[in-house]
Amino acid sequence: MPADWSRPVDVERLADAGECRENDLSLASLPRLAPDLALTDGTVHARIGFARERKQPVADIEVRARLPLRCQRCLQPVWLDVDQQSRVWLVTDLAKVDRDEMGLEPILAPEGHIALRDLIEEELLLAVPLVPRHEDESDCTTGSAESEEEEVVQRPFAGLGELLKRQ
Ligand SMILES: [Zn+2]
Repeated sequence: MPADWSRPVDVERLADAGECRENDLSLASLPRLAPDLALTDGTVHARIGFARERKQPVADIEVRARLPLRCQRCLQPVWLDVDQQSRVWLVTDLAKVDRDEMGLEPILAPEGHIALRDLIEEELLLAVPLVPRHEDESDCTTGSAESEEEEVVQRPFAGLGELLKRQ
């Protein structure tokens, strides 16, 4: 059965079942990350284990990828190795936040649903620097230092912490 990671899943049910999902996602299938990449023919290896912590649904997310970010100086690929694991709290209801401080990074799962792809993409976006560049300017291919446009990276979940504080 092919797994469709773009389809929202019921996080409460997966947490109850303690389910674990593993997949290789193509970089091109990540709609928020792909526009910031210099190439999209790679994949990201992803593993998500669902569990409960203090009765709340949580996910242990592992991502492994070699991302061809676009250098903002020369626009050529600058490679970023991502290999990280983290536990996130799947917030199904903002009203829960005041009552249960989990000490985990919250990710909003509206009405208890989120696409596995979105969880993976969120983890990858956290690892990506705001303005990727070759560390050594001599690695830049064109040498033109005038195109230092600071692209605004969209991070829909990044504002969630602020949103929660205002509740
Ligand atoms: Zn460069």
